[in-house]
Amino acid sequence: MLREELLVQQIHRPVRTCIGCRTTDSTSELFRVVLKHGQHRGHAQGDQDDAATKQVCRVVVDYFLREPGRGAWLHLNTRCLELAQKKRAFSRAFRTHGEIDLSDVSQFVATGATPEAKI
Ligand SMILES: [Zn+2]
Repeated sequence: MLREELLVQQIHRPVRTCIGCRTTDSTSELFRVVLKHGQHRGHAQGDQDDAATKQVCRVVVDYFLREPGRGAWLHLNTRCLELAQKKRAFSRAFRTHGEIDLSDVSQFVATGATPEAKI
């Protein structure tokens, strides 16, 4: 009469939508990206190199899920990255019309690492 299976039927796992292929998957299958503005208001500190890329927004990989703000999720494969670029999914996800630098993300997808991973 006890149906214990019902209680353990489904373990809730967080899922997100890949902005490339638009399918949902568990967060362990996806990686998060966030938008970094080249120009910081109010804070004068930071990389001076960023001053050279004033109008370009950079999308970086958020390895530890610690970056605040709007994020987007993507599968770790080139097809999803290409799909996302083709659909301008990054612009939509981050609500920006400016140019978006995806070099960090494409390098991560291609090699599994980005320059920032060497911290
Ligand atoms: Zn995908």
